[in-house]
Amino acid sequence: MSDCIFCRIATGEIPATTLYDDGEILAFRDINPEAPVHVLLIPRRHIATLNDLAAADATLIGRLYLAGKQVAAELGVAESGYRTVINCNRDAGQIVFHIHMHLLAGRELGWPPG
Ligand code: AMP
Repeated sequence: MSDCIFCRIATGEIPATTLYDDGEILAFRDINPEAPVHVLLIPRRHIATLNDLAAADATLIGRLYLAGKQVAAELGVAESGYRTVINCNRDAGQIVFHIHMHLLAGRELGWPPG
């Protein structure tokens, strides 16, 4: 059994509200939403952080963004706007070490982040 919570969501061992699944990329609702729309998109394959990406992962990361674009459209926020964020390591506030893209929308998001 993996000790990575997002690997366990990917296998279905831990439940999540799934919005998108193409076998490679999975999107599910964040358990502690910071905005009316807060979705996490992950590759099924365990990659700890952005620092661990290899050149061979370029297509995978492209697919992560394409999945985010589709989820945003399906949730009706493509035109109003949304933010995608991948936190990397301590100063960015990464707490789950399985790469994930936050998709936030449904309210005005401040910029720059505090
Ligand atoms: P980060 O700070 O970028 O590592 O974000 C981790 C995110 O994972 C946080 O927004 C958490 O609310 C979210 N999270 C943690 N556990 C779960 C879970 N079981 N299901 C859905 N989201 C989760």
